[in-house]
Parts: sequence; structure tokens; C-alpha cells
Amino acid sequence: MTDAARARRALTVLHRELSACTACPAMIGPVVHGPPVVSRVMLVGQAPGPREGAIGHPFAWTAGKTLFRWFDEALGVPEATFRERVYIAAVARCFPGKASGGGDRKPDAGEISRCRTYLEREVAILAPDLVLAVGQLAIGEVTGQKGKLDALVGRQHRVTWLGRDVDVVALPHPSGASPWHKLEPGKTLLRQALALAEAHPAMRAALA
Ligand code: SF4
Repeated sequence: MTDAARARRALTVLHRELSACTACPAMIGPVVHGPPVVSRVMLVGQAPGPREGAIGHPFAWTAGKTLFRWFDEALGVPEATFRERVYIAAVARCFPGKASGGGDRKPDAGEISRCRTYLEREVAILAPDLVLAVGQLAIGEVTGQKGKLDALVGRQHRVTWLGRDVDVVALPHPSGASPWHKLEPGKTLLRQALALAEAHPAMRAALA
């Protein structure tokens, strides 16, 4: 069996466990995950929204449309190809429900910690070289840095994440909740971030 076949099988086993997970009482199932794509590039989002559970894959609604449009425009890769070549994960794999003030609730520390066990296993299986962290929660989870997007987006970070040395390109969350990426300096920083992703050898290899 090849290494890729072994990794695919390990991801399939992990996905079976993930799909049966009910560790977080406040989370709303079903668990959402993508296919067992063997890739050195991982994308880490925040958590699925209310529609993804029924559709059955991450970034399946409006935020996903924006995200895949960014990749199509900057990397020249359509959504279907991106999904086949990049492993899509998230800080939490269940819909957290709505926040009292509107918008989706952010996963809490306990939920993030419980769901991190799956990320740890995915990183061990895939040994990624590049991580695309989407949104402030995911950027904080992967880089350990919290702060304004102005300081985090548009440059490449080098971190040790879950035991693996990785390059990280931070991206804003594509949901309509924040206009950051539509205004300056967000527009320019997003363009710079996507150019870094496009030029990264791991991304080039994944899309070749
Ligand atoms: S968020 Fe993660 S750890 Fe919590 S129930 Fe869903 S899959 Fe399990």
C-alpha cells in the first residue's frame, strides 16, 4: 500500500469516528467534514454554519461561495478542483448555533479543545506544509496569535502547530458578517495573502 493510500485509509477511519462524535452538548449536529483528501495543504475554518450539516460538506453556503471565488480568481482553480486537492478542516466540526446578538455562536474553549483532538490526528496523518487559516478564530488556533486582521493577513507565518512546523497564510472569514475584506487595507492584504498561497510550493504541488 502506498503512503497516500495509507493516509486516505487513516482519514476515512478518523471521519467515521468524527461523524459519530457527540462530545459537545451545546453543539448542533450533524458533524461536517470533507472527503479524505491526501494533501500537504490544509485549510482550517471556524465551524460549519446552519446549512452545511444538511448539505454535508464544509463551506457549502454563502461564505463558501465567496471563499472559492477568491481561490478561483487568485489561484485559477475552480471550487471542485480545490476541494479535491486541499484538505478542509475546522476548529469545530459542528454548528454551534446562533449567538444571542445574531450571527453564529463561536465555539467555546471546551468545544475547541475537544475538537482539537481531531485536528491533531489530521496533522499527524497529513504532515501539512501549508495551512490556510480562515477567520480570526482559526488564525488564533493555528498561529497562537490573536489580534487585528490588519496585522495577521498579508504575510506568511512560520509556526509549530500541533507538533508540525508549518507555513501559515491567514485569510479573513469570507462571511458577510464583517466588511473587512471589502475595504482598505483589507482588500490589499487579502490580495497579498492569496498571492502568498498561490506561490507556496505546497500549494503549487497540490494543484499541479
Ligand atoms: S464540535 Fe467536534 S468535538 Fe464537539 S461534538 Fe462536534 S465533532 Fe465532536
